[in-house]
Amino acid sequence: MGETRKTTLHTLETAILGKSALLIIDTQNDFVEGGSLAVQGGKSIVPTINKLLSLPGFALRIATKDFHPPDHISFARTHGKEEFADIEIHPPEDLAPDEHDRDTLGPLKQTLWPVHCVQGTPGESLAPGLNVDALDAVVHKGTHKGVESYSAFIDPWGLCPTGLDGILKEGRVDKKSRASGDGSEVEKTQADEGEERVPVKDVFIVGLASDFCVKFTAMDAVREGYEYRTWVITDATKAIKPDEIDKHWEEMKSKGIVLVTVDEVVQKLG
Ligand SMILES: [Zn+2]
Repeated sequence: MGETRKTTLHTLETAILGKSALLIIDTQNDFVEGGSLAVQGGKSIVPTINKLLSLPGFALRIATKDFHPPDHISFARTHGKEEFADIEIHPPEDLAPDEHDRDTLGPLKQTLWPVHCVQGTPGESLAPGLNVDALDAVVHKGTHKGVESYSAFIDPWGLCPTGLDGILKEGRVDKKSRASGDGSEVEKTQADEGEERVPVKDVFIVGLASDFCVKFTAMDAVREGYEYRTWVITDATKAIKPDEIDKHWEEMKSKGIVLVTVDEVVQKLG
């Protein structure tokens, strides 16, 4: 299904040691057991992710957080509607003030979720046991109340880049670059050691959920303008709907994303 990229698929043999990034998607309290939008088995991947975090082969280790204001557009509560209903949403006027722009960007289908990952609440914290000391940065997404972002790079309207692409292209986290404002907030968690860095070309993606934010992040990573060589480490992810995950894997593969296992990555980058 879908067309395969014309370029040769990257393999683990082509991953560049010391110049790869590990992206840990939305491994937060609200997305693991006990959370408001729990993914079955979410907690079980934390030790696996810690094992990956300990590998010497990664230049950057970055966690992402869904990080919503209390009246976020993706919450059923915000609209007074039932959870998991679908609605149409439009670009917010403060970010797209021109009516013509808003029409061009168009409405999007939005599934309405239970309230989750509200800024400053325990639900948005990284899941217990995750080795946060190993992280170079935490990137926030969905920070504007009118914009949803499954991808850790940017929302579908292109209004709120998260800053992730900049970090990867820099190959480092700049101590002074605690950017702020709509969607571009980057939280620095570890001092820069001042070592020489090069742009990251290879990204390895893990976390939650494989059929939503992991998938959308991976699909963005390979598209025009980003064009990272992208791997998803399938056994370090969990799906909201495991029964349907195969079709998502196929879709990712058709875009040139390579699926690998933890063992394969440990062998190569360990
Ligand atoms: Zn969310």
